[in-house]
Amino acid sequence: MKKIAILGSTGSIGTQTLEVVREQGDIQVTAMAAGSNIDLLEKQMREFLPSLVCVWDEVKARELRTRTADLKVRIVSGMDGLIEVAVQPECEILVTAIVGMLGIRPTIAAIKSGKKIALANKETLVTAGHIIMPLAKECNVPILPVDSEHSAIFQSLQGETQNEISRILLTASGGPFRGKCRSELENIQVEDALRHPNWAMGRKITIDSSTLVNKGLEVMEAKWLFGVDLEQIQVVVHPQSVIHSAVEYADGAVIAQLGTPDMRLPIQYALYYPERRNLSGERLDLFSLAQLTFEKPDTETFNGLALAYEAMRRGGNIPTVYNAANEKAVALFLERKIRYLEITEMIASCMEQATFVASPNLDEILETEASVYDYIKSRWQ
Ligand code: NDP
Repeated sequence: MKKIAILGSTGSIGTQTLEVVREQGDIQVTAMAAGSNIDLLEKQMREFLPSLVCVWDEVKARELRTRTADLKVRIVSGMDGLIEVAVQPECEILVTAIVGMLGIRPTIAAIKSGKKIALANKETLVTAGHIIMPLAKECNVPILPVDSEHSAIFQSLQGETQNEISRILLTASGGPFRGKCRSELENIQVEDALRHPNWAMGRKITIDSSTLVNKGLEVMEAKWLFGVDLEQIQVVVHPQSVIHSAVEYADGAVIAQLGTPDMRLPIQYALYYPERRNLSGERLDLFSLAQLTFEKPDTETFNGLALAYEAMRRGGNIPTVYNAANEKAVALFLERKIRYLEITEMIASCMEQATFVASPNLDEILETEASVYDYIKSRWQ
């Protein structure tokens, strides 16, 4: 029996992880954590019987303790609770399916206690990749990508240990506004941006996909995961989302992973790596594909991608500034407090005024996040 813990069990990745668990039948969920959705969490607890659960919000945690008094489970809360879930002795794989920089400290704690990491929470690597990757190496802990593009790259690297990557071709659907110019994006509403053409995901990543900030975060994630230079990563807009990404080698061979857009595949691959298991659902039918098309990304309209390259080139704490500004901006957009185009305006402005820290430690990363929030509050709120 494989034993896993899930941070963010009630979200899009979390619930699909539980679908894999349900279908395979030989994984035990020993611990889970969520923010505040205790209705779904209670159902999950009754089905999967974890021995430890964290709810971020202490008031909700208390309510859940009362509701589940009949279960043999300990319910904790806050950051200490998340860390407890991450290092729970029974579990061997931690699925990091929480949103945002909140995932950094539990991920570091899990690596230090020897857990394999099935990583969906890309914000962690974007902001603390320079801490997490060397730490994982030192602790001999694998970081198994769950993001579909990074899983595709990881799958394309199998059996190629002797060969260096020449280029990574990181595919992008282009989101719901592909082909539009900036003036057409002026009046985009929350509902428009939440309508992704190919993937059903959580709200934050769906907005990030529409601005191409998600692709920017993925470029940074790929750099850390696969140890390549920024110049070796080429974003390729591929609206059909069939080729999930590819690796080009020295001889020009391009190895890719293809499939229907289904997050359960990369989740299952990370949980059972290197084994491949049967997975129910639709299979790729090449004959029914009308065409596969490819375009260069429009970084003028979608300047969030250009800003990501700039953040990565400047390095230090600037990727943290980029990420924190985006997290705040997306939250404000979802609350209808700022306009759509202000998301990347805010990121650019925060990057412009940031105080550079060359090699930030964890405290400095969190201080950078706090100063970005203070700056946004002083200018926009
Ligand atoms: P969702 O918004 O669907 O889910 C987020 C999860 O995190 C929920 O379980 C939520 O709990 C939990 N959470 C939020 N705040 C806290 C907190 N303070 N403490 C504990 N738990 C908390 O997000 P996604 O599943 O879409 O994304 C998760 C991560 O995976 C992101 O980093 C995203 O970029 C990445 N990712 C997602 C993909 C997808 O297809 N969805 C694809 C590739 C990567 P609650 O429900 O109670 O709020």
